[in-house]
Amino acid sequence: MPANKSPLTSTASFQKTLIEWFTKEAKSYPWRLTQDPWAILVSEIMLQQTQVKTVLGSDPSGKGGHYLRFMALYPTPSSMAAADEQEILKAWEGLGYYRRARNLHAAARAITHDHAGIFPRSFEEIGSLPGIGPYTVGAVCSFAYDEPRPIVDANVARVFSRLFDYQERIDTTAGTKQLWQWASDLLPKKNARQYNSALMELGQSYCANKSPDCPNCPVRKFCQTTDPASLPIKKSATKISRIEEFALYTRDSHGRILLQQQETGKRRAGMWSLPRRPQEQTLDLPLCLKTTYHITRYHVTLSIFSTETAQREENEQWHRIEDLESLPMPSPDRRALESILD
Ligand code: SF4
Repeated sequence: MPANKSPLTSTASFQKTLIEWFTKEAKSYPWRLTQDPWAILVSEIMLQQTQVKTVLGSDPSGKGGHYLRFMALYPTPSSMAAADEQEILKAWEGLGYYRRARNLHAAARAITHDHAGIFPRSFEEIGSLPGIGPYTVGAVCSFAYDEPRPIVDANVARVFSRLFDYQERIDTTAGTKQLWQWASDLLPKKNARQYNSALMELGQSYCANKSPDCPNCPVRKFCQTTDPASLPIKKSATKISRIEEFALYTRDSHGRILLQQQETGKRRAGMWSLPRRPQEQTLDLPLCLKTTYHITRYHVTLSIFSTETAQREENEQWHRIEDLESLPMPSPDRRALESILD
């Protein structure tokens, strides 16, 4: 099939089939049981770079998971706007990509100060909130207000590229434009909430990245690809780089631990971690723990050395062990510290 094929010959039939399947098999995620735009915005931001199972937690109802815990702390934009950044970073701990928490905080403040705490109703106003991109504004308008707004996330992009057997890269301007065009062309005027949810769920379930389940797929008869595993086409994946970090575990005579606060502008700004040092400052120290973690395109080996005489730097402070729990801390540092203290 040529790359720029027209949409499906029977758009109405595709929409009907997809919605019927979703009505029968939809998962009852907490964010699908509400039409509160704030609750939907929080879920969308959390799900941008974090998997559903992490956001929900081990209980499929979401009890005890990150999302419901966060919503209990900040049920409204005003409640989040009133919180300080350290509290918010702590509440976001375990989800990673902390810039999202800061953006959500900025959006909560804008809603509180510029819209009297009432979540804006129009597409344009929502789109002008800080940190809200085209996908998120479409998702909030669609899921909260049932407005017919196209949305394209990674799941939808994968479904479309396979449905239309798109043999071009999707991560180019032309590829992105094509995906949004299909999203608009196929969108029903009614039931956008269900339709968009269905499309995303199809991408998470049958049309998953690895091993798509085509024989059982509800929209199989509309699908034009014969080689789903080869799609979508993207620039080859960025290579993983290996890096090493060297940190100190230092306790003073009062049993307090020295921690370093990440500076403004850094990925983990405001968070507390074990003080990092150049390797040459750790050469003579005993190794306390060696661990690894992944962040974006890096595979990091973190070596932690024990010392009693660390020179305290400007952005470092002593903290009592009983206060560690309440400090926002990156997960690798939290796990390492717990392991050392055990
Ligand atoms: S038939 Fe296969 S490739 Fe096509 S939409 Fe369904 S799961 Fe995806």
